[in-house]
This record gives sequence, C-alpha cells and structure tokens, in this order.
Amino acid sequence: MIKTRAIVLHRFAYSDSSFIVKALTEECGVVSFIIKGAKRKESPFKGALDPLALSEVVFRQNPNAELQFIKEASIINWHGELRNSLLNLAVAQVMAEIVLRYAPPATPIPEEFALLKQALEEFDSPAAGATGADSVFSRWLLNICDLWGYHLELGVCSRCEKVLTEPAADFFPESGALICKQCQGVQSARARAETLQGLWELNLAQNNPEQALQKLTGRDFVENALLSYLRNHIGFLKEIHSLSWLQEVRKLCSAQST
Ligand SMILES: [Zn+2]
Repeated sequence: MIKTRAIVLHRFAYSDSSFIVKALTEECGVVSFIIKGAKRKESPFKGALDPLALSEVVFRQNPNAELQFIKEASIINWHGELRNSLLNLAVAQVMAEIVLRYAPPATPIPEEFALLKQALEEFDSPAAGATGADSVFSRWLLNICDLWGYHLELGVCSRCEKVLTEPAADFFPESGALICKQCQGVQSARARAETLQGLWELNLAQNNPEQALQKLTGRDFVENALLSYLRNHIGFLKEIHSLSWLQEVRKLCSAQST
C-alpha cells in the first residue's frame, strides 16, 4: 500500500458514475486513478479529488494496470483562496497541464511536485488576491526551465557577457538571450518595454530572495515571453489547451479593470 501526498492535475468523467483522476503524487509521479461511484452524493472522497487540490492518497499500486484504485483520499489543502480568482485559477490550470504533458509515465518527479505545491500555496495565500500573486507563474516558469535543463540567465548580457545594471535593451524568446544597451546599438527592440522591465524585476527578486516581489510590471507579457522561451525548447507546449482559456480570462479581467 502506498500513502503519498498528491496534487490533482486533471479529472474527467468516465462512464455514468465514474471519474478518472490524474494526480501528481510526491512519491510515484503522475498516477491515473479510476474513481467508481464518485459522482454519487455520498462519495467518500468529497473534495479531495477536485482538480488542483492537495490531498493525501492511499492506494495499492498495480504495475500491470493503467488505472489504479484509490483506497483513501483526504484533503490537505483545497486551495479555496486560489479558486476565488478566475485569473489565478486559469494560470494554475496551465501549470497543471504543462506538468501533466511533461511527466514521464510512472517516474517520480518530486521536484516538479515541490514547485507546483509551492506555487499553488502562494496563489492561495490571502494576500494573493490583488497583485501579490503577480509573479508566481513567471517564477514557476523560470524554475521549471531550470529543472528541465534550460536555465534562463536574466542578469547578464548574452553578447558582451557584462552584468546588467538596468533592464536589458531587448529579449529574444527563441534563445532566451538578453542584450544590453551598448550591444543593441541602433537596432530597435523587438521586446516590449513592459516585458524588459518585468524580466528585470524578476532578476532583482532572484538576487534578493528575502524580498518578496509584490507587483510585476507587464505580468501577461512576461509570462508570454517565458512561455514562448519554454515552447522553443519543449515542443509539446503547442498543445496546452488551457492556454487559450487563460487568454480568454486575461481579456475578461483587463476589460473589467479598465
Ligand atoms: Zn552587451
């Protein structure tokens, strides 16, 4: 019997009364569970198998079966605060889907578990409502790039290799290269000023980990820049369906705030 913490990445209906749940477990990587009778009112697992919940699950692992039967599931953190923000919820779904698409079958990925758990906790903190959660997705993307072997150097000009003392003059998401004003010369920047400012703020925050980054300039632009950097290294990012939902939610949120 295995007892492990798990983050629910995805859940879908299977037959009239059952669900299939894909969860990132701390010990066994991504595991697919079949939950029979879960749609009945008196389902024993309550919210423990809701998408994005952090739970403790107990199951017997059958290595010959694609779907595992779950014996017990209890909530550790349902992330109620996160669910109050449509935008943060949409971002969290993108993170969950990226991990799900990436995860090698039946392989433990405890670092991905820790990073996702941390990001969901930050989104769930009471301060996350307004702007406190601005940089969570960007920092998660930078950490995931690191973890998957595509470290992004935010503090150095990639051409002259000098340490940047101000926001870079341009950013190339294909290569992840930042260049300084001197190296840019008379060329005009392709990256937006907000993106460059936001990447600079992330760089400063990386160098001062004690100081929490409250507001991130150009949040959407920075996230898109980092996503397209990751996309250039990992082909599967093209098929992340929840990304188009995130774009819709962003439009909705910016329409509300103006
Ligand atoms: Zn330079």
